[in-house]
Amino acid sequence: MDVDEFREFGKAAVDYIADYFQTIRDRPVLPSVHPGYLGELLPKEPPQTGESWQEVLQDVDRIIMPGLTHWHSPKFHAYYPTAHSFPAVVGEMMSAGFGCVGLNWVASPAYTELEVVMMNWLGKLLGLPEEFLNCSDGPGGGVIQGSASEVTFIGLLAAKEKKVKDLMAQDPTLKEADIKGKLVAYSSDQSNSSVEKSGLLGSMPMRLLPADKEGKLRGDTLLDAIEKDKAQGLIPCYVVANLGTTPTCAFDDLAELGPICNRDNIWLHVDAAYAGTAFTCPEYRYLLKGVEHADSFNFNPHKWMLVNFDCSAMWVKNARYLVEAFNVERIYLKDQHKGLAPEYRHWQVSLGRRFRALKLWFVLKIYGVEGIQKHVRHQISLAKYFEELVRTDDRFEVCTSSMGLVTFRLEGDNQLTKNLISRIQERKNIFVIPGQFRNKYVIRFAVCSRLTERSDVEFSWKEFQSQADEIIVSKIT
Ligand code: PLP
Repeated sequence: MDVDEFREFGKAAVDYIADYFQTIRDRPVLPSVHPGYLGELLPKEPPQTGESWQEVLQDVDRIIMPGLTHWHSPKFHAYYPTAHSFPAVVGEMMSAGFGCVGLNWVASPAYTELEVVMMNWLGKLLGLPEEFLNCSDGPGGGVIQGSASEVTFIGLLAAKEKKVKDLMAQDPTLKEADIKGKLVAYSSDQSNSSVEKSGLLGSMPMRLLPADKEGKLRGDTLLDAIEKDKAQGLIPCYVVANLGTTPTCAFDDLAELGPICNRDNIWLHVDAAYAGTAFTCPEYRYLLKGVEHADSFNFNPHKWMLVNFDCSAMWVKNARYLVEAFNVERIYLKDQHKGLAPEYRHWQVSLGRRFRALKLWFVLKIYGVEGIQKHVRHQISLAKYFEELVRTDDRFEVCTSSMGLVTFRLEGDNQLTKNLISRIQERKNIFVIPGQFRNKYVIRFAVCSRLTERSDVEFSWKEFQSQADEIIVSKIT
């Protein structure tokens, strides 16, 4: 494909995406395909000779489009949002177009430099303490990772190395393997699956402690668990606090958990994967109280901040713990500018780095702070509106409502709500998933798409009501 053909293909692809977004509201949210459908439509072997880009686009329309779940449909209310915006799409396209890999500063200076500036912008936008920022005088800094899961895992590995170093500095007779075998991590039973997984990947038992009635991990619960482990000769090492849990968007109290961690030199990591974006609005920053106790902080612009997947922002108070833990040098990676810019390859698992900062920059530049705040406030107001609608119908109960997430259920036996979700999912007009709240089976309704409006919320609510009518009639008859 030459440059002229690329121009035509690229423009046609942009038109295709634009058309898709203009029609997305009218499409059933869930596809009607069966497992294996795609293999039946494609030849068993790759084409012997190349095909035209027009044929490729036709295939996308014929084979791929029918198998898409429309995450950006205004009627998609499952999981948490995954972000999308046209500035970010163009940022992705340009990053792929440049095709560089940011191994170190010299491998593409703009990669590292833009990331440093973006992480400063973003940290200030959220109101994080200065010491987390690259622009502070201290050893703190921010980096863009691929996912919150990676960040939690990297935090755990850094915490492990730090703990081993600290203990061996206090008592040089200790053996690294003995210390590592005794390390323990903690989070709440409301934390995301990725938190438990970080413990599995990092070979550190992750205690999932019971959250309180509001879904928060309380200080006395944590303290209790820590004391019990210490009494057994174990070494508390890592705590993951949640700002915005996956089941109900509950917020742990950092001001309560932080001093407990600091007292025992336990690494405190904050997982604000979804809700972190809300801190762009000053009225939600009270939920950050106590963040100065944290060692690392993470949120996903790729969830709620209009930056397409993947873009997960991580800050650490002391980047030396990452660099020292993950530094593997080779002659081919040497850079004469060492020490003048962060060497981000030491802050992550992979060696190669994508230019994720570009799409983040495009979003911040084109939306501006006010545009992002407007988006967040609008989505929260839509969730509030949905909550009000649910409260008008006494067959339903609202269980929780926080940020852009409402959990609710049909009054009575859990089976009624299960039946309701099954019916809704079969009809494919809207998409929601179940959750659990205090042993109750609930429906999670998240405002996900940036296209969602009040009329879409009303549409979804009518869908719930009409299917509840059917279920309740069939229960009576
Ligand atoms: N943490 C929380 C609170 C989440 O809600 C999620 C995903 O929804 C994650 C972590 C995992 O995010 P990622 O897909 O970026 O690993």
